[in-house]
Formats: sequence, structure tokens, C-alpha cells
Amino acid sequence: MSVLVPPAHLIGSDLQVPCADGLERRYVNLDYAASTPVLAKVWEVVEAFVPWYSSVHRGSGAKSQISTAAYEQARLVVAGFLGASDASVVFVRNTTEAVNVLATALAPHARVLSTPVEHHANMLPWRRHDLRMLPFTSSADELLEVTRDALRSERIDLLAVTGASNVTGEVWPLEPLAELAHAHGAQIFVDAAQLAPHRAIAMADAGIDHLALSGHKLYAPFGAGALVSRVPLEGDPLLHGGGAIKLVTLDDVVWADAPDRFEAGSPNVIGAVAFAAACDTLEQLGMDAVADRERALCARLHAGLDGIAGLTRLALWPVHDERVGVASFTLQGYKAQDLAERLSDEYAIGVRHGCFCAHPLITRLLQVPEAEAQWLQAELRSGREPELPGAVRASIGLGTTVADIDALTGALDELSRRR
Ligand code: PMP
Repeated sequence: MSVLVPPAHLIGSDLQVPCADGLERRYVNLDYAASTPVLAKVWEVVEAFVPWYSSVHRGSGAKSQISTAAYEQARLVVAGFLGASDASVVFVRNTTEAVNVLATALAPHARVLSTPVEHHANMLPWRRHDLRMLPFTSSADELLEVTRDALRSERIDLLAVTGASNVTGEVWPLEPLAELAHAHGAQIFVDAAQLAPHRAIAMADAGIDHLALSGHKLYAPFGAGALVSRVPLEGDPLLHGGGAIKLVTLDDVVWADAPDRFEAGSPNVIGAVAFAAACDTLEQLGMDAVADRERALCARLHAGLDGIAGLTRLALWPVHDERVGVASFTLQGYKAQDLAERLSDEYAIGVRHGCFCAHPLITRLLQVPEAEAQWLQAELRSGREPELPGAVRASIGLGTTVADIDALTGALDELSRRR
């Protein structure tokens, strides 16, 4: 797959946007980690499906039967894409909901082991259980070491980790983590929101028990995500209501089995069909080829950023080979928000700034002094709105070109000279 040409057409890839000087410029989208554009192929599938859209599972009409078949087929496609043909696929809105579904289904007071670098979506839902936090680590080996120690020291039910950092991009050693978890009687959950768009995932081969991902980060932004489980998913559903039950009496309920048990209410059929279409398209492109192309672009991005005076690229594990195309950085003389605004207003470059829903990690990476962190907390609690420390994040995907990367590094270089 050539690094020069995007391997698939994405809708909106040729937009011109107005800049502060009144001129229109080509929009440079470097915000894939937040939400990706729609694959043209996904849009085609959605358009073709829309006339057939109807209620699923409940109607006997032809449209309902076709919609039900498409919805159920979507589960198989998503499971196949993740190398988990034996898995149950629960369609939800996004990764956040998927984690909440799993956290609600766990037995009360389950012992969950996790890390301080997680996105809040893979952190806050576990706090209703007995959550154990691993320390920050500076390498994958150190992570494996502290995980082994923690698993040895007490019984853990679930190890909950990211597949790839949404702030610094490191791809996590999932196979050894799964091996460790299983060797100590625990299951493993992987937050694959950032991993799935960039790397092939083989859940069964890697020993991953549960995994969550979002369609809107996978070129199918129609409101569907999934919780994919290779072990039986029982327990309490997050949402209680129709469709999730076998029988209801006035004082009892017999819940359905997964996946229906966890999908109360009318599901997002079009979202699921779009999600599956994205999985199909990515599979046809070949995730290994997608990953190789992104590695080349990512190397260019990192080299370009590292050559800019006053720019600090953030890294959880500074020496680590496998990173998805996500780079967060600060530039001396600029606040994160101002820098992101300058990139947009002057250069039509779209990035994200802030804390990326990973406050503990950003606090650590930016070395925010404890006293300042405490002060910020107190200010927020008292209803004031202090400015939080943050960084700027550039993230790449299927539509990214060498020109996009060079546009960013060129703009940052200019801005660094204007400080
Ligand atoms: N985990 C990670 C690593 C993420 O990057 C995100 C989204 N930024 C989420 C979870 C949450 O995803 P969603 O907003 O789709 O629920």
C-alpha cells in the first residue's frame, strides 16, 4: 500500500475551509483519534440499506426480517474482524457504554486491576468495584513486571487495560498481559478504541476475553460501538427494558442471554450495519497494510515534530517501537488552546487540545506539581473554572497524506519562530 495515496476514499477529504485571513485553505484533518471521517464505502452501504431499515427482532414483515438479518450479520462481521468468531457482540453506542455494560455485568465488588494511564472511559466505570491501580511505568517490560507482581499478591477478577494510548500512542503488550491474567485466574478487558482503527486484532489468538471499540473512530460514525466478549457475559444489564428479557412478571424478570440481555430498547440498526461495513472495508484493505502505511506516516510525523525547536513530544514509554499514529506535544511559548487555534485559524489544520479524557496521565506527563494539581481540584470544586494544563494532539488515519504531516510540521516550525 503506497504511503503517498490514501488507500480508500473518505467523505469530506477535499474540503476547503475559511481561515482568519479570509482565504480558503484545504482542510488538514489531524484529529482521527477523536472521530474519523466516513469511509465512502460505508456511506454506500448505508444508502443501500436505508430503504430496508425497519425494527429488528419484533416484526414479521419482510423489511423487519431483512433488517434483523442485517443486524445479526453485523455481529458476525465485527466478531470476524476482531478474530473472535466465537464471541458475543453486544452493540452499544461507543466504547464508554461498552465499558459501563461490562462493569455493570461484573459481580459486585469484583477485583479489577488497571493502570493510571487509561482514558476516563476505562477508569471511572471500574470505581464501583474494588479497583486496584498499578503504578505509572516507563516501559512495556516494567508494565509486565508490576502487573505480574500485582496478580501474584492477590486474587484479581479482571485486568482492564488500553490497547493503545490515546495520548501518546504506545501499543500495549496485550498477548503477554493476557497470559499473565489467565495464569492468575483473571480475565482481561482491552479498551481498543484507539487500537482497532490502526492494527489487526486477533482476540482469540491473543487471549483477549473482552474488548470494546467505537464505530465513530473506525470510519463509521453512525452511533454504534461494541462490547465483544469471548467468555460468557452474564450479570446485570446496564439498561433494563424490552428486548433484554425472556419473561417479566410483576415481581420477577428472567433475563435473556447475551447479546440481547445487554441491548434493551430498540437498537441502532443502521449504526451496526455501518460499523460492519467499515470492518469489511478495513479487512479488504488489509489491516497489516494499513498499519504499515501508518507506521511510515507516523515516523515522518515524529521526526518532523522532534526537529522543531521548543517542541516537546509526550511519551509514556520513551523507548517503544510500536505506536499508533497519535502524537501529543507542547510548544514553548504557547498554551495548548492558543496553539490549536492558531493551527486552525492560520493553517486550516484540525487537531485536538486539552487533557484528552486522561487527567491522571496528562498531569504526570506535564509534570504538574502536586500543589498545583490540588489547587486546581479545589478551584473546580468551589465552582470556579481555572484553566487546566494540557497539550495538543495530532492523530492520523486512512486519509492522512505526507502533505498533511508536512503541513503540520511546517506550521509548527513557523509558529515556533514567531514566539
Ligand atoms: N478509550 C480510548 C483510548 C479513547 O481514545 C476513547 C475516545 N477518545 C474512549 C475510550 C472513549 O470512546 P467513546 O468516546 O467512543 O466512548
